[in-house]
Amino acid sequence: MPTTTTDDEADFLADFHHTTTYGATPAGGIDRQAGTPDHGDVRAWFRERATGLGMTVTIDAIGNQYATYPWLPDAPSVLAGSHLDSQPLGGRFDGTYGVVAALHAAARLDRDVRAGRLTPRHNLTVVDWFNEEGARFAPSIMGSSSMAGIKDTAELLEVTDPDGVTVREALESIGCLGSDPAPEVASYAEIHIEQGRILEREQATVGAVTQSWDTRKLVVTVHGEQSHTGATVMADRHDALVAAAKIVVMTEDVVADYTPESIVTSVGQFSVLPNSPIVVPREVNLVIDLRASDAADVTSARRTLVDAIAALAADRDLRIDVEDFDVRAVQRYPLDGVELVEKAAADVGVGARRIATLAGHASVAMDRIAPAGMMFIPSVGGVSHCEREFSTDEDMVRGTDVLTDVVARLVAGDLDDTTPGEPLAETTTDTTNHR
Ligand SMILES: [Zn+2]
Repeated sequence: MPTTTTDDEADFLADFHHTTTYGATPAGGIDRQAGTPDHGDVRAWFRERATGLGMTVTIDAIGNQYATYPWLPDAPSVLAGSHLDSQPLGGRFDGTYGVVAALHAAARLDRDVRAGRLTPRHNLTVVDWFNEEGARFAPSIMGSSSMAGIKDTAELLEVTDPDGVTVREALESIGCLGSDPAPEVASYAEIHIEQGRILEREQATVGAVTQSWDTRKLVVTVHGEQSHTGATVMADRHDALVAAAKIVVMTEDVVADYTPESIVTSVGQFSVLPNSPIVVPREVNLVIDLRASDAADVTSARRTLVDAIAALAADRDLRIDVEDFDVRAVQRYPLDGVELVEKAAADVGVGARRIATLAGHASVAMDRIAPAGMMFIPSVGGVSHCEREFSTDEDMVRGTDVLTDVVARLVAGDLDDTTPGEPLAETTTDTTNHR
């Protein structure tokens, strides 16, 4: 088991709380969307801190930052990390906790390697993934999906934000458009806040993540007809917003057919054209986010919504386009990785509970190419992607201890014979246009 001192704990907490000053919001959150100046500043802090700890920093073509202890020439790396970008008015802990915890785990293990207490079979790389959140640039989980070869890097670089700025331009503007090769990856570890309240409810300190949920988004465009809100009689209107409002309500209502806590839905993005108080809306663009533990439930809920939208289009004499986007099958983490997290929690003396992740993480992408161990710490009240997101110092410290133990085992080669996780098939994708 790696050695940890109370000085280590204080150093970790000082670094973590320092990061929350970048993009700090008045109500205690952060706003550090990918490629913005505040995101650039916290990423510069990461490079400086890692260099100060003796690591070598490189940046790849999609802006992922890697800080490596090159203990063994030409050996693959154990990767550990998360992301420093946030949602608009997001929380301080989402992603950033995992990056700072990994930096400190790495520094402790470097001390153990140099003292001869740990014999590495791999190098160790702390990673800060670019654009995990997908708020400014969609899709989310961008940097790790590029690195894992799931998405095409050249295409991702041309993705634009709502103002037409490309990923390439945003990366250039913060000095993060790199050309270094990504390290060869032996295995992957990530710690994150749960963003739910299962661990808190069951008083477990650590969650050993077993699988992700099946998720998909539906991009919906309602095509109505623009007219005068005063002069056009009701019978002559083709109001895109009224139809869109009904779709929002349908999206929430569809979960009533399923077991509680097995499915979640929402419309998170919504725009109205032309958005004038004197004009009946001609077009609404919205994005439905649909997630369930069982892929069959996502498929059937999608079918229900698509059919209801078709009926709505016919009823209101409008055209409604529905397009599948960002479809992600359930990804299982290897059992060896789950058990490794449980062993590490036992070493540290904290309780662990097996848990699924409802949110997507870089580890879901990495688990396709290398065995991954994913762990959670409790989120107070279960809230995330908001300013009141909170985890306690004590849980963060214990989680960092567990991560350190996990990474020590990975560096020693514990998952070298483990095959990466597999996505479970069930991906219905088609494009529907309803008139
Ligand atoms: Zn996150």
